[in-house]
Amino acid sequence: MKDRLQQLEQEALEKVSNAENVQGLKDVRVEYLGKKGPITEVLRGMGKLSKEERPVIGQLANEVRERIAQALDSKQERMEDEALDRQLEAESVDVTLPGRPVEVGGPHILTSIVEEIEDMFIGMGFEIKEGPEVETDYYNFEALNLPKGHPARDMQDSFYITEELLLRTHTSPVQARTMGQRNGKEPVKMICPGKVYRRDTDDATHSHQFTQLEGLLVDENVRMSDLKGVLNAFAKQMFGEERDIRLRPSFFPFTEPSVEMDISCKVCGGSGCSVCKGTGWIEILGAGMVHPNVLEMAGYDSNVYSGFAFGMGPERIAMLKYGIDDIRNFYTNDIRFLKQYHKA
Ligand SMILES: [Zn+2]
Repeated sequence: MKDRLQQLEQEALEKVSNAENVQGLKDVRVEYLGKKGPITEVLRGMGKLSKEERPVIGQLANEVRERIAQALDSKQERMEDEALDRQLEAESVDVTLPGRPVEVGGPHILTSIVEEIEDMFIGMGFEIKEGPEVETDYYNFEALNLPKGHPARDMQDSFYITEELLLRTHTSPVQARTMGQRNGKEPVKMICPGKVYRRDTDDATHSHQFTQLEGLLVDENVRMSDLKGVLNAFAKQMFGEERDIRLRPSFFPFTEPSVEMDISCKVCGGSGCSVCKGTGWIEILGAGMVHPNVLEMAGYDSNVYSGFAFGMGPERIAMLKYGIDDIRNFYTNDIRFLKQYHKA
């Protein structure tokens, strides 16, 4: 019996060392250590042995079992390690390869231009004001000297939400709201940038949504020369020291007198070219002295207080500054267009 056990051990260990994969090891385990295996069979036959032999053979059988199991375990572990090594090698990452660059975004060109204008006016002591984009008829029109039925309303025919609520057609209601908060006494010195909406058909120079930036200064003894000084400082900072400005008479319902401001053409320097349509000047913005009715409606005594207001389109400023020829470029968000104006 002892010989039989030793023979079985030898056979089993040989098969373990010849096994080529984990499945092969499993087969050996089942074959030799299973309940129907030869070692179990040997143990079953122990009944025929003498009392003295029984424990010796029993111990030997257990030792043989243990050694076969150990051989199986250590070989299996080795195989698994090797398999892992092979897998790691196959999936290895080359850390010396260059990485994929992370695209860094930047502010939209309109955001940049509005911030640039804001900085200029903050430098001149103006504060920044904002207001709702869904506005009441009162603030959008009536408080600005545009009563119901006024023909100038047609030019801004807009997106109504109800009879009395609409998407604001200009940022002027922010002026009316700010004046209303000052109890007709405190001065106002503000600019208000923001989105506005009109029922315009989109083309190269029109968009149903665009931005405006308006300014308002109300105080005692405000004169037209103050307006001209502020606008001149703005134009030179934005477009260059060499640019001149001129004011032309115009009409707006909320200012009297009203003007349009032109700057001298950058391309021809004022002598006339195709960009300025031969005039030497390019229109930039509208402005004027605040209409006494507007002051009175906001609670100011128009005999004591006066003011000026101006309004510009940041799109137009950006188009003139950078030579952009289609307003739709600002809204179609073609990344190739926008990228050109990212500042580092
Ligand atoms: Zn020109």
